[in-house]
Amino acid sequence: MTTTDLRARARIDLGALRQNFGVIRDAVGPDVEVCAVVKADAYGHGLWACMSELVEAGVDRVAVATADEAVAAREVSADTPIVVLGALTERELEVAISVGAEISVWDEGFLTSVAAGSVREGTTTRVHLKFDSGMGRLGAQDPERVASLAETAASSEGIHLEAVWTHFATADELDGPGADFLRAQLDRFLELGEGLKATYPGLLLHAANSAALLREPDSRLDMVRPGVALYGLDPFGKNPADRGLEPVMKLVSGVASIRVIEPGGTVGYGRRWEARAETEIATVPIGYGDGYRRGLSDRSDVSIGGRRFPVAGTVSMDNIAVELGPPGSSGVSIGDEVILFGGDDAERILAEELAGTLDTINYEITCGISPRVPREAHGNRE
Ligand SMILES: *Cc1c(COP(=O)(O)O)cnc(C)c1O
Repeated sequence: MTTTDLRARARIDLGALRQNFGVIRDAVGPDVEVCAVVKADAYGHGLWACMSELVEAGVDRVAVATADEAVAAREVSADTPIVVLGALTERELEVAISVGAEISVWDEGFLTSVAAGSVREGTTTRVHLKFDSGMGRLGAQDPERVASLAETAASSEGIHLEAVWTHFATADELDGPGADFLRAQLDRFLELGEGLKATYPGLLLHAANSAALLREPDSRLDMVRPGVALYGLDPFGKNPADRGLEPVMKLVSGVASIRVIEPGGTVGYGRRWEARAETEIATVPIGYGDGYRRGLSDRSDVSIGGRRFPVAGTVSMDNIAVELGPPGSSGVSIGDEVILFGGDDAERILAEELAGTLDTINYEITCGISPRVPREAHGNRE
């Protein structure tokens, strides 16, 4: 396939996003709310297009990490409930309240600020009390403290006690001690949550991220908070197709130049790649400035015309070189589309594969695609 633009672009398949949402909706059934996590610009996929699609598909709520993200999400949809999961300063809290976001709380002083800010704004803010059942980052560690916060919240003007929630540390570990720890966290949370629910009927309990909701039905409770799986990335780092998930992002660029390198000739910074025989090299305008990481130098493949070719030498800021083999053998021409990862052909390269090479997780691959790369959404909304 020939491309009209050579520079790197991220194609965002909204049909795949909708399919992945359907997989999660079907898994949890109609009685469990789906709160789509769209923080970090929808894991690098582009908030506007992704959230619009999810709203149209019937998502119940969305979750973000920061006040600015809440503002951006409110611009996408005037009436979708938005939950802020992260910690906020007083100033950020004001911003979040002003767009009607629901707020995570684990501290008495902060709860007072939410109440005061809401009264000033003439509004009622829904709060989600966070219990630290074992992640050890944010949330109240003592269940008694959560119960006391609930009591205060339930009687405060400007506040509606909406939910109590927690977050798992090891949901992606399918076996070993991680599996037991997930169960222990869930049990601690249920002990607290079920008690509170008896006192406050209508209180929502939520805990499960993608990994937990897929592997542990008991963790789904009243609402699930999937992020990564919605984007067609496997939370366990395996092939997303095994769970019916389709990658939403396809990172592409084009062949800008083709040259023959004679034996002994080298390519790229540091002369890291050297031709053993006469070899054709394609230059492709994408590099670590686009988020195609330098750690992939000499270690990854790209896909051109449904075939894999190895990256030759150093990934630079703006370009990579690709080894096409003996001159004339590849059938590749200038202008051909180069797929760095994603897509649906048989030889596709998954974000999970690049993550494995880089000793990281698929989340970091899509979140790391830089703002220089335009996101081009297509699919149902085209
Ligand atoms: C990011 C996040 C999620 C989503 O997790 P995934 O693993 O991407 O499904 C859920 N809950 C909280 C608190 C988060 O920070």
